[in-house]
Amino acid sequence: MAKCGYCGSTILFGGVEERGHHFCNNQCLSSGYAAVASEQVPPEVVESFAKEIHEGTCPICKGRGPVDVHVSHRVWSILVMTSWSSHPQICCRSCGLKRQLGNTALSLVFGWWGFPWGLVMTPIQVGRNVFGMAFNPSPTKPSEKLHGMVRMQLGSKLMAAKQ
Ligand SMILES: [Zn+2]
Ligand SMILES: [Zn+2]
Repeated sequence: MAKCGYCGSTILFGGVEERGHHFCNNQCLSSGYAAVASEQVPPEVVESFAKEIHEGTCPICKGRGPVDVHVSHRVWSILVMTSWSSHPQICCRSCGLKRQLGNTALSLVFGWWGFPWGLVMTPIQVGRNVFGMAFNPSPTKPSEKLHGMVRMQLGSKLMAAKQ
């Protein structure tokens, strides 16, 4: 199964494709479009940026790291319309937990009210948050996801510089 090139979530339903890269939806596509350019960024540059972020302070609470990517997932529904999304955030563990808990609560309240996708996606998004809360990224080194986000950000700078 394809994984989203931006947030790293497994794409279960739908999804969009752009030049061989898969994304959850258009939101992830526009954020992750730089993935295409990011392949030109040398791995050692990505490595050193990722290490710096990992050992730095949290950009949200300014607290101590380790800082890594924490993805929170949410879903909300109105009648036949259901919208679900995943949000990667570079932050410390406790900021990540807060977001995952907040989006779990939001999904549990607003997720169910759509048929049929609300009923299908609510347990999935809640399960993803629970999984994220239970298995945190290793505190000793930057995760694959952090490498991916750094590569993407450097890629978008590269694209901007070329325009
Ligand atoms: Zn995504
Ligand atoms: Zn924090």
